[in-house]
Amino acid sequence: MKILLVIPPAFYMTSDRVFPPLGILYVCAWLKKKGKHPEVLDLTGEKEWKEIFRKAVKIKKPDFIGFTATTPDLPAVISLLKICKKINSDIKTVIGGAHATVDPYSLYMFDKIVIGDGFSASQKAFSDDSSKFIKEPLIKDLDKIPLPDREAVNLNKYSYYLDGKKAANIMSHLGCPFSCAFCCGRKSEYYNKPRFRSPKKVLEEMDTLNKKYGYEAFVFYDDEFNLSKNYALKLCSLLKKRKYIWRAPVRADLLDEKLAFEMKKSGCVEVTVGVESGSEKVLKLCGKKTTPEINSRARKICAQAGIRFKAFTVVGLPFSSFEDEKLTEKWLLENLPDSVDINVNTPYPSSPEYENKRKYKIKFKADYFKKPVSYKYDPKKYSGFCDNSYLSPDEMVKIRSKMAEKINRALKNRFK
Ligand code: SF4
Repeated sequence: MKILLVIPPAFYMTSDRVFPPLGILYVCAWLKKKGKHPEVLDLTGEKEWKEIFRKAVKIKKPDFIGFTATTPDLPAVISLLKICKKINSDIKTVIGGAHATVDPYSLYMFDKIVIGDGFSASQKAFSDDSSKFIKEPLIKDLDKIPLPDREAVNLNKYSYYLDGKKAANIMSHLGCPFSCAFCCGRKSEYYNKPRFRSPKKVLEEMDTLNKKYGYEAFVFYDDEFNLSKNYALKLCSLLKKRKYIWRAPVRADLLDEKLAFEMKKSGCVEVTVGVESGSEKVLKLCGKKTTPEINSRARKICAQAGIRFKAFTVVGLPFSSFEDEKLTEKWLLENLPDSVDINVNTPYPSSPEYENKRKYKIKFKADYFKKPVSYKYDPKKYSGFCDNSYLSPDEMVKIRSKMAEKINRALKNRFK
């Protein structure tokens, strides 16, 4: 039985080939452990992705093709599905990943749809089992899962540098129990129940990546690295024994001096923080459970510890007016993070705002299957998709551009 696992091209990203998607590589490793021989076709960043896929299907003649897809990947994956069925309608198509988990019934056109953990579901998905929707119980002990099969892709295609060192992505846990209005999967047990790998296993994976490929830098692909302070401290105490450098996302309210200094001592050079908004009202109504003061405090703690602070903010969150956006700009100018990423609010299925548009007073018009719904879809001209009752999509994009210009100028001038 031939299985082809496909990583879609992700042409909506401004910088392709930063990190390989780990989910499908976990599936690949699991299938191999169970005696199957899947191959991975990595279309990330490939301009001729349709042609490459067409040729691969004709030459490899797979019995099954497995796709992974986030919501913005859908247009590309649907094109690939059509190509595949045109070549041979008997090929069984399987889809898993984030969109399949949170909105499985929208993917009825695939033969099998995997809801939740792809690794454990993969045996049923790539077999003659006739169920269309496959949902296996949540795997509580993540240490039982084999490490992602990075051998299955060409890692040289990917590059992300942290302080001049090529970095690998790695996850220490899955899931986050908070329910921020703009964050996907809040109702799915696969995304809202934190499951931690043992710190020892995380370190083992880093050591393997170091020995096998020479990685000395790592980026944690966690929801929030510091969901559990005890866990984070344990991991830091192990990391202190190495000379790796790393970056991780943290929640501002869960960061304190002790943790920040331990993170620094164990190699953390940068954190990414969901500051989201400079408006206390917006943070509260979006359920972020932080305040601008909490974010400022975290910014100061990082500066004292010597960790760079990268702020993520979002223009056009629910209930955010022009005045609220000005508060975000003010927060950024006053706190001067080391770097800033300003997004435009884009509601995705299974985020509280998308599921309850009336409550959050948003209007949203976009067909996920027609074009990639991502504000960065066209890097030359960012797009908005949502009206939050105060701001139209175009206004959000304009506010974002002006804010980015001002902040970038301020960041450049800070050392002058
Ligand atoms: S934004 Fe962060 S804290 Fe909020 S739900 Fe998502 S992962 Fe959790």
